[in-house]
Amino acid sequence: MSQTKSFSKSVDLMFDRAADLVDISPGLREKIRVCNATYTTRFGVRLRGEIHTFIGYRAVHSEHMEPVKGGIRYAPSVNQDEVEALAALMTYKCALVDVPFGGSKGGLCIDPGDYSTEELEQITRRFAAELIKRDLIHPAQNVPAPDMGTGEREMAWIADQYLQIQPTDIDAKACVTGKPVSMGGIAGRTEATGRGIQYALREFFRDSDDVARAGLSGSLDGKRILVQGLGNVGYHAAKFLSQQDGAIITTVVERDGAVTAESGIDVDALRSWIHENGGVTGFPGVEAVASPETALELECDILIPAATEGVIHAGNAARICAPLIIEAANGPVTAEADQILREKNCVIIPDLYANAGGVTVSYFEWVKNLSHMRFGRMQRREQEARNERIFRELEALSESLGNAWALSESFRDEFRAGANEIDLVRSGLDDTMRKAFQEMRAVLQQKDGVSDFRTAAYLVAIEKIAESYRVRGH
Ligand code: GLU
Repeated sequence: MSQTKSFSKSVDLMFDRAADLVDISPGLREKIRVCNATYTTRFGVRLRGEIHTFIGYRAVHSEHMEPVKGGIRYAPSVNQDEVEALAALMTYKCALVDVPFGGSKGGLCIDPGDYSTEELEQITRRFAAELIKRDLIHPAQNVPAPDMGTGEREMAWIADQYLQIQPTDIDAKACVTGKPVSMGGIAGRTEATGRGIQYALREFFRDSDDVARAGLSGSLDGKRILVQGLGNVGYHAAKFLSQQDGAIITTVVERDGAVTAESGIDVDALRSWIHENGGVTGFPGVEAVASPETALELECDILIPAATEGVIHAGNAARICAPLIIEAANGPVTAEADQILREKNCVIIPDLYANAGGVTVSYFEWVKNLSHMRFGRMQRREQEARNERIFRELEALSESLGNAWALSESFRDEFRAGANEIDLVRSGLDDTMRKAFQEMRAVLQQKDGVSDFRTAAYLVAIEKIAESYRVRGH
């Protein structure tokens, strides 16, 4: 990480810029900012005939709403400052998009690549047990989810571990989100953060003032996109934007190098290549970027950092040419870089808004687990029957007019079915992303002293959190 200030200091600076513009007492401001508590565990697991000690964290930033929510990250670089910064971002993110949770984050210092699947399961179950013992995994108090280095598989192990410890908890499945659908997960959770990036950009391009602010024009169609990180988030964002909105993925930056193609990169083919070959190197039909360390500085219309924090810093911010950055990762732009980019009139759609799709669909999953029923189960066929009835009525009308027209098969196919779970999840996510963007936009347009989306986003979040303290009389 190339940050001169720590990650949490960087988040604090961004918080302060907005808090200065909010009418709030100094005491409440400080209460909102600080991380409430961080639990550190050092636990041993017997592997390969020897006890190995691991360090894990779970930070709880704010309990103004419970449960608190946030992912668990597996990476060798995990540390207390990082989980606390990420937990703070979760608090602000949930407030901004009206997801009724406080903020939390966990991490384990581990390189998952060093261990077999069986070993990772043992380590995960042991880490989960440590957190469950202290109610740091609990359906009503603290609900983890995937983050860097974790996914459905780890969430399934965590859910199963919780069930073993609390077999009579009828809401046990709601102790963690991002589970496989076969274990109480929800359709669309894996794609959710990338899908949220797509919905966020669509909303951005709906407003010609926003588009002009970035010095761009027109729609997403034909926009050249540079993506850093083709993991779950970067891959889904790039896939949807290129396959559904006409954007062109011109550059992909990965750990081992960067590739570029003016005519566009096939992200599905590149992802398969990465899975088979461990990186982008050698992918046919593209040019390898000669100096990948400066690949983020390449020309494009939209830059999507979807890897990790601190990648745009004081050392490279001035050379970033993208007029629009959408932060798919948490904290990819340091506070110092943010200042440099603002001075260059670069428009940044900030992390706490841009990547909120993940936690939004986690919220839907949690509600599904508490209701013990898949979304759409009660309504789908009833809706279908209604649609059929409308078709019959229209056909009777057409007949009475001498068969003047007929409904096409494609129209029937498209409109017959009622909404299933994935349709409802996408609709709820789209609505969430649009509404939060509109709130941010209104602040940016109307509030004196606000000239960027990040400050607007923090401001909306701080006001909502402050209000939830006030109504409770604090
Ligand atoms: N780890 C994701 C994030 O940073 C998802 C959190 C969640 O679903 O609780 O937003």
